[in-house]
Amino acid sequence: MTDAYIGLGANLGDRAAHLAEALRLLGQTPGLTVTRTSLVYETEPVGGVPQDDYLNQVVALTTTLPPLALLNRLHAIEAALHRQRIVRWGPRTVDLDLLLYGDTHLETPTLTVPHPELANRRFVLVPLLEVASPALAPQVQQWLATTPDTHWLRPYTPAKDETHG
Ligand code: ADP
Ligand code: MG
Repeated sequence: MTDAYIGLGANLGDRAAHLAEALRLLGQTPGLTVTRTSLVYETEPVGGVPQDDYLNQVVALTTTLPPLALLNRLHAIEAALHRQRIVRWGPRTVDLDLLLYGDTHLETPTLTVPHPELANRRFVLVPLLEVASPALAPQVQQWLATTPDTHWLRPYTPAKDETHG
């Protein structure tokens, strides 16, 4: 069994529902057990393209799937969500990234692990710290202390959104 960490993001449609559905499908995957889930954060889009704020979350899991099989499963979940509800809203409904896969470092045409942007994204590092194993946590704290990223994020509270629009 290998510890792995997945970053989830959504910024179109019912963002919270899309995260929840992706998490549900992840939990149904043979050879994979979700062990911890972070809070959901609302986060400022990175990269300068005008778009809605994101919801982001990180989950820890243990798996017997090799890295590329895990990536294929993440792509299948993305595709399933796009197909089911969001065809008209484009392809960025849910994004699932493989952040870390044990201590593995690999670079193939379709998969780079650790995720190359990991240390540059507070919207990944903050929730990752919540679910990191004791062995991983000091490394995540180190990344957080040195990341150049200054975009805001805040814990997401849906009730507040509904009250104040
Ligand atoms: P992004 O996540 O950068 O916003 P996409 O989700 O469209 O963009 O991913 C683009 C490609 O990145 C995917 O086709 C996938 O093969 C590749 N990729 C490389 N490394 C990873 C990783 N660690 N996790 C997820 N996708 C990855
Ligand atoms: Mg992605």
